[in-house]
Amino acid sequence: MIKIQMKTPLVEMDGDEMTRILWKEIKEILIAPWVDLKTEYYDLGLKHRDETDDRVTVESAEATLKYGVAVKCATITPNAQRVEEYGLKEMWKSPNGTIRAILDGTVFRAPILVDGVRPTVRTWKKPITIARHAYGDVYRNAEIRIPGAGTAELVFTGADGKEIRQKVFDFKGPGVLQGMHNLDGSIASFARSCFNYALSVKQDLWFSTKDTISKTYDHRFKDIFAEIYEAEFKAAFEKAGITYFYTLIDDAVARVVRSEGGFIWACKNYDGDVMSDMIATAFGSLAMMTSVLVSPNGQFEYEAAHGTVTRHYYRYLKGEETSTNPVATIFAWSGALRKRGEKDGLADLQAFADRLEKATLDTIGAGIMTKDLALLYEGAAKSVNSRAFLQAIAERIGG
Ligand code: NAP
Ligand code: MG
Repeated sequence: MIKIQMKTPLVEMDGDEMTRILWKEIKEILIAPWVDLKTEYYDLGLKHRDETDDRVTVESAEATLKYGVAVKCATITPNAQRVEEYGLKEMWKSPNGTIRAILDGTVFRAPILVDGVRPTVRTWKKPITIARHAYGDVYRNAEIRIPGAGTAELVFTGADGKEIRQKVFDFKGPGVLQGMHNLDGSIASFARSCFNYALSVKQDLWFSTKDTISKTYDHRFKDIFAEIYEAEFKAAFEKAGITYFYTLIDDAVARVVRSEGGFIWACKNYDGDVMSDMIATAFGSLAMMTSVLVSPNGQFEYEAAHGTVTRHYYRYLKGEETSTNPVATIFAWSGALRKRGEKDGLADLQAFADRLEKATLDTIGAGIMTKDLALLYEGAAKSVNSRAFLQAIAERIGG
């Protein structure tokens, strides 16, 4: 068989623990037999991050800026316990945080739907993708516990020394106070990432804030989205037959629950944090959530939304068989291969990505799946280990 050829390499970011084991098997069993895989490999495994003083993470992000498409394995974000476990020189920062900062990107999370695992919300037939603005607001706040009576003010001192003041509240007794900020530049990058991603997947884009109450702060988000849409994206949206629409967060929540799905919902930082957990749980399982980081310039980094599945890894190290779900990681690969195919005009690579996803869904449709899914599945399910599951998918890829 002649293998599918690639033009530009994918940026490959290897990771940790159970997902690192799955990573190798996915390449071996599901990709290498059909695709002459070209990647630029970066080992983001914790040991190698430590050896390179985390330079490898920065280099992998820079390579993504250069080539445009990356695929990433889940990685450990070190805490005190990991520093000890791996004998780390430092408690290195979250690789996802580092990569997101370099790409100035937004994360889009979408569930993978399979027949037999029904969403809790009966009307949902298609995935709902959540885009979360990952900068500022309450995540970068300043807070004060107010001890007693007094006046709270917001004060901005300009670089030119000019002051802007506004009273927040006259306290008669104890209470709490909070200051938040955001940046026009960050909001604009968020907006561009959302518009680019909507065009890339040809789905409608919804955006919601609380601008009726927050008439300056949230209203700024609404205005920046509207200005960028009109100036840069409106024509492309009309041509693609998709729409952008803004609504209040309360209205959005009600509409989302009544909808069939099949759109992207852009949220401010806190709304996205809360709503993405709601959406993931209502669709079924974290092991079936994909995640893609999109830069405002249209660079893409694909991954699974879950972590390195540590509990399974420790069992694997003891020689026990594990049934870890590889679906989100497979879809990270298929997403990246399809995007690479689109960028390089390789129809056969795009078609392979479709076949790989279909074979995965068909395998589950035939009742063969990992343990976590078998527990959710309505119907007769055969629970198998990860390797047997991957082999069952390979048999269905065909070609
Ligand atoms: P996790 O790896 O997502 O796993 C939490 C639990 O969810 C697992 O123990 C397992 O439950 C279930 N689960 C998650 N993915 C699964 C899969 N593919 N198949 C089957 N079950 C799955 O989260 P964590 O244990 O909180 O974090 C572990 C490590 O991952 C941490 O070091 C963290 O820093 C890192 N992390 C990385 C990323 C990333 O790179 N994007 C994201 C999150 C966390 P059962 O044990 O009950 O089977
Ligand atoms: Mg959360």
